[in-house]
Amino acid sequence: MRVIDRTLAAPAFDALDRRSAPLCEDADILLVHPAQHLKTIRAASPAQGYRALDPDTHMSPGTLNAAFRAVGANVAAVDAVLSGKATNAFCAVRPPGHHAEKTRAMGFCIFGNIAIAAKHALERYGLKRVAIVDFDVHHGNGTQDLVWDDGRILFVSTHQMPLYPGSGSADERGAHDNVVNIPLKPGTGGSGFRTAFTERALPALTAHEPELLLISAGFDAHQTDPLANLNLTEDDFAWVTGQVCDIADAFASSRVVSTLEGGYDLDALAASVAAHVRVLMERGNG
Ligand SMILES: [Zn+2]
Repeated sequence: MRVIDRTLAAPAFDALDRRSAPLCEDADILLVHPAQHLKTIRAASPAQGYRALDPDTHMSPGTLNAAFRAVGANVAAVDAVLSGKATNAFCAVRPPGHHAEKTRAMGFCIFGNIAIAAKHALERYGLKRVAIVDFDVHHGNGTQDLVWDDGRILFVSTHQMPLYPGSGSADERGAHDNVVNIPLKPGTGGSGFRTAFTERALPALTAHEPELLLISAGFDAHQTDPLANLNLTEDDFAWVTGQVCDIADAFASSRVVSTLEGGYDLDALAASVAAHVRVLMERGNG
């Protein structure tokens, strides 16, 4: 969060409308998780020290609050965009969300931030179709789990395979053909990524005609990221952001809400977020 804040403090981002993330309501989390999950997470929250939820996922005394604000940011961003106060929004949040399943925190994720944003738009604003584009290098198994049965939500994920968490093969397609998994081989690189996205993601997004575009913006597919080997660059992240904005222009009155997922080389993370946000600013209508 510190490197992102530093990067977005540059004069190029002076025009950004910065808002602090509010705490979410329990009801927001209950849009996608059973009450038992919220209860389990609350009970696990340590008064001091750390509590392990799984081998990767730990809670400190501040985690619960941060997780509620991560959800709250996503809900507030959808509110801002669907009420016309903003064209698009980027949520710089930790913890991320796309690995959190209905009843399981995992992979640094506690609650399904972007899936909650999707359900919030559908249930509370009456939208009929939304799409989530997840270009984090890892498969968004949690988002897939949370939206599997909901044909109103198209979930499109590009990810390296094989890699954690192991799911995300192309034959996992959702209960309503609403999941499009695009696994990519290690070493794919920007050109292969763009080809796959153009050939498989764009037709699915176009066919779905989403009224709101949501992005799980993980930047760990960057070539210097220590966790994976897809070898993308800032230019590739800017490109894919532009592609999503094009779909939003065509079907969604340009409305895009993006939320931070992974990114573990801090210099690459900062530069990639800057590239992503720059495109969102250029494409936003003021
Ligand atoms: Zn990731």
